[in-house]
Amino acid sequence: MTESRLYCDANASDVLRPEARGAALEALACVGNPSSVHAEGRLARRQLEGAREIVASLLGVTTEGCVFTGGGTEANALAIHALGQDRRVLVGTTEHDAVRLARQDATPVPVLCDGTLDLDALEQALSNGPPALVCVMAANNETGVLHPLKAISALCRRHGARLHVDAVQAAGRMPFDLAQVDCDSAAISGHKMGGLKGAGAALFRGPFAVPGTFAAHVTGGGQERGRRGGTQALPAIASMAAALAAARAQDWSSIGQMRDGIDDAARKAGAVVAGSGAPRLANTTSLVLPGVAAQVQLMMLDLAGIAVSAGSACSSGKVSTSHVLEAMGFGAAAGQAIRVSLPWNAKPETASRLAEAYGAMAARLGKSPAGHSGVS
Ligand code: PLP
Repeated sequence: MTESRLYCDANASDVLRPEARGAALEALACVGNPSSVHAEGRLARRQLEGAREIVASLLGVTTEGCVFTGGGTEANALAIHALGQDRRVLVGTTEHDAVRLARQDATPVPVLCDGTLDLDALEQALSNGPPALVCVMAANNETGVLHPLKAISALCRRHGARLHVDAVQAAGRMPFDLAQVDCDSAAISGHKMGGLKGAGAALFRGPFAVPGTFAAHVTGGGQERGRRGGTQALPAIASMAAALAAARAQDWSSIGQMRDGIDDAARKAGAVVAGSGAPRLANTTSLVLPGVAAQVQLMMLDLAGIAVSAGSACSSGKVSTSHVLEAMGFGAAAGQAIRVSLPWNAKPETASRLAEAYGAMAARLGKSPAGHSGVS
């Protein structure tokens, strides 16, 4: 009997949740455009606003402060466009390209070797120059490392800076709330939480939550109260709201234990776990196997039936050196890491099969004795 494939690349796109599928199917049955005034349009509008209420209430903003977009990249771009118009922009060096490249003139802020933002460097950057917009992620997509958001927010407030948080990986997988963090905006993405691809939201607090305070980045029919033109993708948006609610109700501790078991097994096989000294997202780990190119590890695990990813894969599908691990000081080893990101429905067997395959791979590559792995 052939073993089934193991999907461990949830940070690229998580498994569709049944609640999200159900919400999407209900929305698919709705023919209307949410901007139309007839009954069909009004039904679509009701579904859209229902989704907005769920997303806004779970993330600590008003419904006015929730702007639906086509995904996380667009949500980040919209928030950075809105909050950064009259400001210089400071961006953490381990940010996703959706944030790093949103403003060509952004100033990088370094991280410490555990992947968390260097608060002294941030304070220095904030002190030297006019008020800024600071853009950081809640959880890193490659290592899972969590930035100290409360401390970052306190520094921003002290220096009159605005704070935008890329919560694309974090929003469904850990408690995250704009009011608690005290940030001005955040970005989320439906397919990272178990919803359909093609929906996201830019969330705003304070003055920026009020429609009319900034112009649309994508202009058009005035949707989203003039802040994002284009007909909303109702099935994807409805599934995002349902996925967020389901993800928030989930207890992630067992996924965290599975991840810790994988880390232990990988260490025994000769790997270094990037950022393991810092708080991390429960489902994510970055395993550096010194001397073995990420591409080789990816292919060997793929042949063993396991889907993981390299630190970073560009749209061409080529594996490139991870800028995240480079920023953490890994040097040449930044090209020798794989990311394991467990889906929301991972089972203990997922972790033990992965650990076994990792150990076998390392042994074949001469890195560790075969059979010296297994989840402990
Ligand atoms: N921000 C982070 C941290 C991500 O990991 C990603 C996608 O991997 C994005 C933004 C972009 O999200 P989307 O794929 O929805 O455009």
